Amino acid sequence: MSNDNPGFSTLAVHAGAQPDPTTKARITPIYQTTSFVFDNADHAAALFGLQQFGNIYTRIMNPTQAVLEERVAALEGGTAALATSSGHAAQLLIFHTIMQPGDNFVAAKRLYGGSINQFGHAFKSFDWNVRWMDTSDPSSMEALIDDKTKAVFIESLANPGGTFVDNAAIAEIAHKHGLPLIVDNTMASPYLVRPLEHGADIVVHSLTKFMGGHGNSMGGVLVDGGTFDWSKSGKYPMLSEPRPEYGGVVLHQTFGNIAFAIAARVLGLRDFGPTIAPMNAFLLITGIETLPLRMQRHCENALAVAQWLKKHPKVSWVNYAGLPDDPNHALQQKYSPKGAGAVFTFGLKGGYESGKNFVESLKLFSHLANIGDTRSLVIHPASTTHRQLTPEQQVAAGAGPDVVRLSVGIEDVSDITADLEQALAKA
Ligand SMILES: *Cc1c(COP(=O)(O)O)cnc(C)c1O
Repeated sequence: MSNDNPGFSTLAVHAGAQPDPTTKARITPIYQTTSFVFDNADHAAALFGLQQFGNIYTRIMNPTQAVLEERVAALEGGTAALATSSGHAAQLLIFHTIMQPGDNFVAAKRLYGGSINQFGHAFKSFDWNVRWMDTSDPSSMEALIDDKTKAVFIESLANPGGTFVDNAAIAEIAHKHGLPLIVDNTMASPYLVRPLEHGADIVVHSLTKFMGGHGNSMGGVLVDGGTFDWSKSGKYPMLSEPRPEYGGVVLHQTFGNIAFAIAARVLGLRDFGPTIAPMNAFLLITGIETLPLRMQRHCENALAVAQWLKKHPKVSWVNYAGLPDDPNHALQQKYSPKGAGAVFTFGLKGGYESGKNFVESLKLFSHLANIGDTRSLVIHPASTTHRQLTPEQQVAAGAGPDVVRLSVGIEDVSDITADLEQALAKA
């Protein structure tokens, strides 16, 4: 690139990629191969000993995956990234790099439901323990931290219903206690929010959502901010102690500001194996090229739909941080001035049955458990994702019987509101 400091849209199209050196193919090829030939025995030994970077076996690294990683690292402003088979796989590799049995971490109460399950149930079998915090009061997390606490985890724009979190205030408290801040940036995408600029140390994404953007591929990524000192406290032995499986190399010493991403690859991805398929990496790279354009349209449409719903007689409330009178509007203006995202909730008069009828009457909207597609999506949490909870728990989780969640797509906004209108008439 001729400009040393290319803009976000230029990076979204070009970062990490160049014409294929052997075939001159302009688009990044799908390197559909399991393994890569060594130049000679010394080359093989250097690769296995971490003395030289290079491809060995697609479980650990693949050239299509590498383009995806460089592109996301560039968009987030990180030093390196590691792509995985899903967002949940990226979260597993992050915590595996940080935690020892018996350790704990602090996580926001308001999270994607799958993350609440992963942290609260699956991680227990590793004896990694989660402590839930109320992010609307960042100082409340201090009481949750002890000498076994290893990290703090939040979403920049949180589920359910799109609430912006005070990233910088939480980073400051985490750092005061010598802890890294991990931010799930799935709902916002780096087009709207760049958490590393607000004090995050690691960013994680489900690429399945807005990044890929077309609802066609699962994928995840972790981004190393390159700023956290993993050696200082002795709390992160995976990074600061000699690794027996690599001849005693100390990863933080050898790899400096990319040590976290390297550790997650050579200790986590290598041994657990949640590798992204080259085909999925290719589809995600292609999706990311239009991220800025799609996010602009998603945000424009979502704001118009939120304003429209707010005036509708069958709607009791709308939670969208982009509305000037929303309680979350000031944080949105601070962290995400380009827009408030595309996912939000609203309340239907008439409760549970009304919510079910409404969702079943929509035609343009797809009724499914996903967000961040080009298509408009809808779910009624009380009859689906949150149906196992008691009525009190549903309300506490922001999933009461009247709540509908939308992920507003990039179609013509007049078609989106027309579909909502005819379904509201039947609700
Ligand atoms: C979907 C999602 C995840 C999990 O990602 P998968 O790709 O489904 O594994 C994590 N965090 C958020 C905010 C999500 O929306």
